[in-house]
Amino acid sequence: MSKYWSRLVHQLTPYVPGEQPKMANLIKLNTNENPYPPSPKAMAAITGEVDARLRLYPDPNADRLKEAIADYYGLAPRQVFVGNGSDEVLAHAFCGLLKQDQPLLFPDITYSFYPVYCGLYGVDYRTVPLTDDFQIDIADYNQPNGGIIFPNPNAPTGRLLELGQIEQLVAQHADSVVVVDEAYIDFGGQSAIALIERYPNLLVIQTLSKSRSLAGLRVGFAAGHPDLIEALERVKNSFNSYPLDRLAIAGAVAAFEDREYFEQTRQQIISSREFLVKALQEQEFQVVPSKANFVLARHPKCSGEDLAAALRARGIIVRHFKLPRIEQYLRITVGTDDECRTLVDALKEILPELKG
Ligand SMILES: *Cc1c(COP(=O)(O)O)cnc(C)c1O
Repeated sequence: MSKYWSRLVHQLTPYVPGEQPKMANLIKLNTNENPYPPSPKAMAAITGEVDARLRLYPDPNADRLKEAIADYYGLAPRQVFVGNGSDEVLAHAFCGLLKQDQPLLFPDITYSFYPVYCGLYGVDYRTVPLTDDFQIDIADYNQPNGGIIFPNPNAPTGRLLELGQIEQLVAQHADSVVVVDEAYIDFGGQSAIALIERYPNLLVIQTLSKSRSLAGLRVGFAAGHPDLIEALERVKNSFNSYPLDRLAIAGAVAAFEDREYFEQTRQQIISSREFLVKALQEQEFQVVPSKANFVLARHPKCSGEDLAAALRARGIIVRHFKLPRIEQYLRITVGTDDECRTLVDALKEILPELKG
């Protein structure tokens, strides 16, 4: 606290990111990073960008990247917005589209950055409880609102809402913007980008941090009607004209072009997830059905807090949220098969000790 702070800063409750430990040799399954390196072509493109041109500002519109994304999804570049990580794209959406007279709606269990953006931009919001088995019931959103946002698959539950349900929701709320945060869509869902041509109130946001292994490069994007995209551009150009640097633009373009590597690594993660779910269930864990690169699981006989601490003592870091409804759960990122096996073996030792 300081008398020099603005009133706004006094009132903020900032987001707390998952830990990035400085210790080496940990098995890091706490922030849903991809266990595989980025595409070798993306890394080569980044290296190839390091030369005297770094003295120049990058393209403020990152047109090459918009074209690469538009090409991948069969869109026009004017239907695409790019930003410094999808967190920044989300922030601009809260500021430019979701701050309305009626409250914004999002699930009670969801990405914990949403209420933080509401605090920063003064967005009034109301949370809508997930069902008992952590599903989004679109009927629960039939109430006055100034917008709707949720991740699909949802985080940290991993549960997917089918595309047909999303279409119904978007159609039923034609006067509101519906934002679908598809950070994890490549791990088993169908993207709602397929719907944007028909629904001018739908904005889909994705990131290169998860399925494209580029969390360290900070690139995210949105797809939607050009009017929605223009709102994001107006906010962006009132905040930072160059959110993507030269290296990020080059790496992201190459990552989108290397479809083969992308397919290979995401299929591997999907198959590791199926292995991990089965192995956890064999140890009596209750696992929420996941289409993401993480699973949310609880053990009926051990607390989430104790399990997370015991795993940490063995050099394995998972995420534990001290939040209502999920405090007994662990959110475990799907690592390589080796990492998943090490986790499962550690649990085999831990469980008998904790159950006493
Ligand atoms: C990881 C994540 C993001 C943020 O992605 P960045 O592009 O790294 O900022 C956004 N939404 C959800 C639901 C996420 O899990």
